[in-house]
Amino acid sequence: SRDEISYFGAGPAPLPTPVIEQSAKALVNYEDTGLGLSEISHRSPTANKVLADAKAALAALYEIPTENEDGYEILFMQGGGTGEFSASVQACVGWWVEQRRRKAVAELGEGKDAEVVERVRKEIQQELKVDYLVTGSWSLKASQEASRLIGSKYVNVAIDARKSNSGKFGVIPGEDEWKLSDKKSSAMVYFCDNETVDGVEFPAFPESLKGRAGDDGVVVADMSSNFVSRKIDVRNYGIIFVSQALFALLLVGLLINEYQGGAQKNLGIAGITVIIVKKSLLALTPAPAFLQQLSDVLPSAIPPIVFDFATIAKNNSLYNTLPIFNLYVATLVLQSLVANFAEKKVSGQEELANRKAELIYEALDQYSDTYHVVPDKRVRSRMNICFRIKPKQDSGAEPGKWDDAREKEFLAGAEKQNLMGLKGHRSVGGMRASNYNAVSMASAEKLVAYMVQFARA
Ligand code: PMP
Repeated sequence: SRDEISYFGAGPAPLPTPVIEQSAKALVNYEDTGLGLSEISHRSPTANKVLADAKAALAALYEIPTENEDGYEILFMQGGGTGEFSASVQACVGWWVEQRRRKAVAELGEGKDAEVVERVRKEIQQELKVDYLVTGSWSLKASQEASRLIGSKYVNVAIDARKSNSGKFGVIPGEDEWKLSDKKSSAMVYFCDNETVDGVEFPAFPESLKGRAGDDGVVVADMSSNFVSRKIDVRNYGIIFVSQALFALLLVGLLINEYQGGAQKNLGIAGITVIIVKKSLLALTPAPAFLQQLSDVLPSAIPPIVFDFATIAKNNSLYNTLPIFNLYVATLVLQSLVANFAEKKVSGQEELANRKAELIYEALDQYSDTYHVVPDKRVRSRMNICFRIKPKQDSGAEPGKWDDAREKEFLAGAEKQNLMGLKGHRSVGGMRASNYNAVSMASAEKLVAYMVQFARA
């Protein structure tokens, strides 16, 4: 039955049966209105309430200042994490250009449109950079998208972690080795807080990025696979985004772990991306007509309107049709969290996530004759635990090579014990135990028992 399965997939993952049943009900007949929630207009009072509740609950859970002018907007969009790769670079470049335009107007005076365009064009050519910390497959993809959209000459790869690790991801070079562009030239510094494929996580917010959340250099973080698994200070960031498929997993886990299956009502599902963006930056969104005059030096800097944060914010995330059912399920989860462990907020989840990860890594380290943890110890992800299996010592195999047959045997044996979803991402191979919030301590313990059993056999 469903209860017997421990699932370590990187996403999506199975959800608690009562949650699925309750969602199914809302899909057919929402609160006895005779209509399903996905049949109700996204502009109806019902839909608006769902949206307001989602924002309020998220703001409370993560202590996001949303009220003040210098606070943050919470946006719900579609397009996934991949859509945000494009949206964030276009937004940041736009803000940088607008700042330069305003400065030029202030210095040259009103009515000097042609000179202003000329000056900004020169500054773009001579200065503009977007900085990427490439520490794994997802930040690599984001940097490649930036090159595709605005041109590689503007993209500064401040670190490519593979260069410090024989061509493979698995380390984060020390901050003294980062080649960040000058703060004034940099429209943004982008990083992926947790690399889902490679199992690399930033241990903490980087020191050298502090003070870049303002209008002068923007920090953009992809938190798709570790959101709400540890406390953060939102004020360090200009943009945080989360691909909803994993956001859902993390939220559902919070609920299951805290309430042991008792109080949960519902869940979040894939289909909505969450964006937390600084309001003062949105105010810098340039007029498309100005950007059009610079298209010779800056192609594709104007985002499609559904990816324009300022437009989405102005329209309360309802510029176009928002999948309200998807949002509703996340909203219920968020509300329960806020109601039920208001004091602890994310810290309780952080402690649990850390304990589960420590347990699994401890077993891998203890049986290091059998297992090799892929990333460097200092940057091991608490969420995606990537490891390989070594050949048996008497096999005569070349050191440093992995034993494909043993890895297959490990996975097959795991499945026999209902430990599912342990195969690594197809691009890197090996094993990956995803330890999202939805994975219970009991599941982590079962996995550890199996690892020990396999290593001893
Ligand atoms: N960033 C990270 C860290 C991811 O794990 C993923 C995949 N879930 C993405 C971005 C891409 O998200 P999506 O599939 O929603 O485009």
